[in-house]
Amino acid sequence: MGSMENGHSTERRFGTLAVHAGAPHDPVTGAVIAPISLSTTFAQTSVGSPVGLYEYTRSSNPNRDNFETAVAALEHAKYALAYSSGSATTANILQSLARGSHVVSVSDVYGGTHRYFTKVADAHGVTVTFSPTIELHVEELIRPGETKLVWIETPSNPTLGLVDIKAVADIAHRHGILVVVDNTFMSPYVQNPLDHGADIVVHSVTKYINGHSDVLMGVAAFNSEDLKERLSFLQNAIGAVPSPFDCWLAHRGLKTLHLRAREASKNATAVAKALEASQHVISVNYPGIDSHPHRKIAIKQHRDGMGGGMLSFRIKGGQTAAHNFCKYTKVFTLAESLGGVESLCEVPSSMTHAGIPKDQREAAGVFDDLVRMSCGVEDAEDLLADVLQALEKADKANGSA
Ligand SMILES: *Cc1c(COP(=O)(O)O)cnc(C)c1O
Repeated sequence: MGSMENGHSTERRFGTLAVHAGAPHDPVTGAVIAPISLSTTFAQTSVGSPVGLYEYTRSSNPNRDNFETAVAALEHAKYALAYSSGSATTANILQSLARGSHVVSVSDVYGGTHRYFTKVADAHGVTVTFSPTIELHVEELIRPGETKLVWIETPSNPTLGLVDIKAVADIAHRHGILVVVDNTFMSPYVQNPLDHGADIVVHSVTKYINGHSDVLMGVAAFNSEDLKERLSFLQNAIGAVPSPFDCWLAHRGLKTLHLRAREASKNATAVAKALEASQHVISVNYPGIDSHPHRKIAIKQHRDGMGGGMLSFRIKGGQTAAHNFCKYTKVFTLAESLGGVESLCEVPSSMTHAGIPKDQREAAGVFDDLVRMSCGVEDAEDLLADVLQALEKADKANGSA
């Protein structure tokens, strides 16, 4: 398959791989950028002898192969498989488990992942146990013979708690259990979970990898032949595959991931520090600064101890202040999602996490006054000025209310 052709070169650094992995020149025309292969079917010269590597686009497509090759290189994986969304990626992995399988997951997973684990997996006989303290309790939650997967999301959403991947993987592997890490929030530039012992890394490509808020896609990357067999069979059988155009766009986005991730991380660090210094703020969750309770894990697990582009903070003045803050920002757009070049903010308790009962939400630190921010790649000075003016305005509006 094309996704293996270029393999993964350990000698090249991240930026070089981002630009060149899975991006060969067209051997016929010399085109530096691959054309978009919209053809759904590929000619054969005799029965069973296709002209090239391809037969039918659901099974494989040149643009999807190129994108998968690039992601595999960036995640230090042998293989990557792309899907029509991050959610479809999760569903494919869960569907690879036999009836009667059990999964241990961190509590703080993405809302759609939680929904699949609690409302869909059950229908094909897979049960999930959630743990808020997985590093401490994974061993006692393992059911011998039944537990097949441990699911980690680090950092967590929206409180940015970190999980020590290696600590959990060491325990899981002693019991022959695979570890999946959802690496969407960090992107392959900041964190490579396979290097810390994870067996599968998944991404909502919709976020940092594409990075321009114009593609919905997912990807899984891993090293095992056996996983390659099982997951690529399901990728084709279930058919939740991305379009060639989306693969082409996501591949274009990925080529600048290192530049975007560095800027976003720098901006988030500046914003986090300004928030921490503000009298209008109760507390800040950002793994890139020393006040973060899991800062040691960030230093061990993230490139140069970077914190990434995501942060959250509690504003003084309750839910009203949180809503007002997001209304008064001018550079930060009030919207769900994350990881794009443009900065976004939202109030999880009223938006992305509104579906979780209040007591459960608050136990996980998601209070009504929590604001989540995705820092983009605008100029830090403008982001800081925007945040500071919105804090002032939200405070004044509360005072006069
Ligand atoms: C967005 C997201 C998903 C789901 O991805 P979609 O592409 O929206 O289906 C999964 N995990 C995390 C952490 C996400 O942010």
